[in-house]
Amino acid sequence: MLILTNARVYTPLEVVEPATLFIDEGRIADLRAKRHPRGEDLKGALVVPGFIDLHIHGYGGHDTNSGEPEELLALAELLPRYGVTAFLPTTVTASHEELLRASRAVAQAIRIQGDRPRGARILGLHLEGPYINPEKAGAQNSSHIRPPDWEEFLQYWDAAEGKIRAVTVAPELPGALEFIGKAVGLGVTVSIGHTAASYEKARAAIRAGARRATHLFNAMPPVHHRAPGVAVACLLAPEVAVELIADLVHVAGPMLELAWRVAGTERVMLVTDAIPAGGLPDGHYALGGLEVDVREGVARLGNGALAGSTLSLDQAVRNAVSIGIPLRDAFCSATSVPARACGLAQLGTLQPGNPADFIVLDPELNLLRTYVGGERLF
Ligand SMILES: [Zn+2]
Repeated sequence: MLILTNARVYTPLEVVEPATLFIDEGRIADLRAKRHPRGEDLKGALVVPGFIDLHIHGYGGHDTNSGEPEELLALAELLPRYGVTAFLPTTVTASHEELLRASRAVAQAIRIQGDRPRGARILGLHLEGPYINPEKAGAQNSSHIRPPDWEEFLQYWDAAEGKIRAVTVAPELPGALEFIGKAVGLGVTVSIGHTAASYEKARAAIRAGARRATHLFNAMPPVHHRAPGVAVACLLAPEVAVELIADLVHVAGPMLELAWRVAGTERVMLVTDAIPAGGLPDGHYALGGLEVDVREGVARLGNGALAGSTLSLDQAVRNAVSIGIPLRDAFCSATSVPARACGLAQLGTLQPGNPADFIVLDPELNLLRTYVGGERLF
């Protein structure tokens, strides 16, 4: 039994202080609002559920499109040093063969991890594309973008052994609404993204079962007072959780604040959209067959378009707090909200019985420790 005491625990919805956390056999055995004489004294440090990143393409040179389970496992081992204890490896648009290999690799990596992962938990696959709008490709390789194809998607589903948890789709594409209904029927979360959809078309996608928005505001038309468009449709829909890239480059601070005021602590999810060049020095890199130039940590294509980020999720949380988002809300957006959006009620909250996935932060929100299944991995 591991006992950590004198902590300020964010469950994340409630604050417990001075708290004692009891961890046994990989799970939280108890959480009590008093000090414990035999516990390790955390001296008032913050204890928060481990962060969950639902949109990440890689980090530290590891690439989720590589088709190698070893790459995914290496990424999983790297992420705890940024406070991440679970993630959805996310593919970029690529050829059919490459996406098949990437789907297989996720299933293999999950099998190797088993129930005692030595890194962040691999939750499944997020297919970002290929069924997106070429006019809103962003840094997705447009030569591989195609209209929704259910038979093809089922091949990825089989290759991933049913471990596809999310797919990003542009609802205005031919056959997209029917595709969304079928994907939802399989239990896959559909995320609206890389889209030029009107407000009405986005509403139709939500009616068909879409429940997420991929990096809200990015790779979609800007909000206009006479043409509210897809971003406003997603923000206003109480059933839709919205991803935000809070590197303060992709979305201006006041727009992040606007999203938070509308979608609140229940529906904002911080994601990194990080690329394999994340955590590496500035320079030239490849992303899905496109050339990416990273300068001062900002990744762009030759045409100047932003190409994912080099953000880490702990930095995203600090950025959110730096623009005035309350601490509890910032924590929810990296823990309980993504867990729920992924259908994983046991993750993202610190409650007795849940897996002991949590992090320890100092008052400036610097990461001190990361635990996955009660094992200290950072
Ligand atoms: Zn992405």
